Amino acid sequence: MKQEQIQSVSRLMEEFAVPRKVLVTTHQGPDGDAMGASLAVYLFLKKQGHDVSVATPNDYPDFLQWLPGNDSVFNYMKQKPLVEQLVSEAEYIFHIDYNHIKRSADMTKSLSRAKAIRILIDHHIDPSIPVKYLFSDVEASSSCELLFQILQLWDEQMMDLDIATCIYTGIMTDTGCFAYRSATPLTFEIASKLLAIGVDRGTIYDNVYNDYSASRMRLMGYCLNKKMEVFPEYKTAFISLTLEEQEQYDFVSGDSEGFVNLPLSIKGIRFTAFFLEKDGKIKISFRSKGYFSVNDFARKHFSGGGHLNAAGGESTKKMDAAIQEFRDLLPLYSDELNRS
Ligand code: 5GP
Ligand code: MN
Repeated sequence: MKQEQIQSVSRLMEEFAVPRKVLVTTHQGPDGDAMGASLAVYLFLKKQGHDVSVATPNDYPDFLQWLPGNDSVFNYMKQKPLVEQLVSEAEYIFHIDYNHIKRSADMTKSLSRAKAIRILIDHHIDPSIPVKYLFSDVEASSSCELLFQILQLWDEQMMDLDIATCIYTGIMTDTGCFAYRSATPLTFEIASKLLAIGVDRGTIYDNVYNDYSASRMRLMGYCLNKKMEVFPEYKTAFISLTLEEQEQYDFVSGDSEGFVNLPLSIKGIRFTAFFLEKDGKIKISFRSKGYFSVNDFARKHFSGGGHLNAAGGESTKKMDAAIQEFRDLLPLYSDELNRS
């Protein structure tokens, strides 16, 4: 960890020497890293005797609802007045796994107004939330990896099996089960420490990846068979899913998790997109292999962002128009895609 971050941990320890009222929050559509890190902070601070709550801007998938501490999570979409009260009463707010306040979706306004002292723990580029304590490391595989280092310094004795389970889950999901280049020797060192604490990696893997409905598997088959378009000349493939199609397969939140990665298994494919009609918009996920920056692509064309090889964005157009926009962009990136 960087020197100034180590100093920040010391100052935080001083400020948290007395019981504090804390709110932990994360980005909309929380993923494994967002929930793992948020719940780890929650469990850690609770164990230290602080008055701490966790609130997400909206719902998150069933495959994360087994995480330790899950039953304590508030959902802004469902418990708006309560969450707004938590935001306004908090002395400290943790912003976890996101770099821009707008990623809190409907909670953004309320969070921006908050008087609390802010702490950011994140691994996306260009963190732009004004905070007193900035823990940002774009080299970290996950927010959970960075958080582990913070908590280890803060109070290693507090690290129990529940906290370790949350942290392991975040690292596992953000590194594609330790497969992506973002997983470094340090990632494996931390994973090793978590295993030594007793983390049950087999059960965590099954809870996250092998706990789906039959209809989700059929939907995946439908996507691959009927909805995948492949452009070998651009080393690109994409999949799209309309609301109507989701209804046909009894779609629930999380059912399309990982679909964006599927076409990357095709030989030669380096860039993929997944279009999902959701909440009156088209939510788009992007993935790449190699040096093609989906972060730049998402920022430039689809009001989004993320990392080099994993990013997301959105379109307010209709599905067909959003897809057409994407198709029309491919020739402009032909050289870059064929070089990557
Ligand atoms: P996913 O495709 O799994 O939703 O997101 C992949 C990555 O892109 C994540 O690191 C996430 O933080 C980022 N991301 C997804 N959607 C958006 C978005 O709308 N805006 C920004 N700035 N980042 C996003
Ligand atoms: Mn993350």
